[in-house]
Amino acid sequence: MTPPTLGILGGGQLAQMLALAALPLGIRTVVLEPDPQAPARLCAEHLCAPYTDPAGLGRLAACDAVTLEFENVPVEALAALEGRGPVRPGGTLPARSKHRAREKEALRAAGAATAPFVAVETQADLPGALEAVGGQGLLKTSELGYDGKGQAQVNSEADLRAAWEGLGRVPCVLEELVAFEREVSLGVARNVAGEVAFGPLVENTHRRGILRTSVYPAQVPPDTEAQARDLARRVAEGWGLEGLLTLEFFQLPGGDLLVNEVAPRVHNSGHLTQDGGGVSQFEAQVRAVLGWPLTDWAPLHPCAMVNVVGTPDEREPDWDAIDALPGTRRHLYHKAHRPGRKLGHVNLVAPDVETLWGRLAELERRIP
Ligand code: AMP
Repeated sequence: MTPPTLGILGGGQLAQMLALAALPLGIRTVVLEPDPQAPARLCAEHLCAPYTDPAGLGRLAACDAVTLEFENVPVEALAALEGRGPVRPGGTLPARSKHRAREKEALRAAGAATAPFVAVETQADLPGALEAVGGQGLLKTSELGYDGKGQAQVNSEADLRAAWEGLGRVPCVLEELVAFEREVSLGVARNVAGEVAFGPLVENTHRRGILRTSVYPAQVPPDTEAQARDLARRVAEGWGLEGLLTLEFFQLPGGDLLVNEVAPRVHNSGHLTQDGGGVSQFEAQVRAVLGWPLTDWAPLHPCAMVNVVGTPDEREPDWDAIDALPGTRRHLYHKAHRPGRKLGHVNLVAPDVETLWGRLAELERRIP
């Protein structure tokens, strides 16, 4: 029997880890990715060509299903695959996640709360915008923003004008500055049969706009996880999801959740599922995309993740000390060192929550 094949648009670390999860399930992976040094080159068949390359897209279309590892896939690439085989998530879903204002409107339509926001598309939208979000806000470019790039905090009308100029007068959203207690995230998968499954609720911290740590279980009030699952189910069903998506939330004092944004794929905050003893988020996405039966993918043990991000002085983590810490596992992406670039992560698993937090503090000291 020929093994099932999974096609991936994009060959970064997420594709690398999807391919690594697919292999023991008997699945081969093909990635379309123009970067000859892309992380997935070492564990998948690498079609080294532009995302819009007709021959490359033809090879992907011949796979049993196609998925994406990033949301900024050119629309022409998705259009070229349309109708030739399953693309999951497909339809308008990936394009929606490329555009903050459209995404927020679609979240609200599905019944999920977001922070108050106004679209700032032209100069005419500036007057009154800040007042509409309570006098303090974050201006974010509607497209091509990630890891805290393309955004600015604004506290006055003058700030707002300067920030909009500074971001290049491109379409933006102005959001209320939310006084959240913590940031959490949750993955949800849905297959063609309409089965829905959830990942763990994970608690996240950021540094310089980039995810630094994720911890499971999240230290949230008792009802918050059920609320997260309810919101995730609404979005998955309301948007007709086939595949996996990850919701990032702000947890407000008291436990209520606002959705900050949605990634139509596995997410950096879910990497800890690789070593928590359960199914990983990568296996969950592979299964959902190929239409296999789904189960929840919560870890069986408390676990955490710390990202390894490039520093200006190219400092390496203290690997010997990290390896000596019980419960750590390295995951490296085979990328050249560059400041601010995600190079890998270290997962940590512990027998109980108290030990986890203690060892996480030790692990963090060893990663610049
Ligand atoms: P984003 O690119 O939307 O994920 O934003 C990056 C980070 O900025 C988030 O993880 C939050 O820490 C912070 N942030 C984003 N939006 C808001 C907001 N409306 N209020 C307060 N903090 C925010």
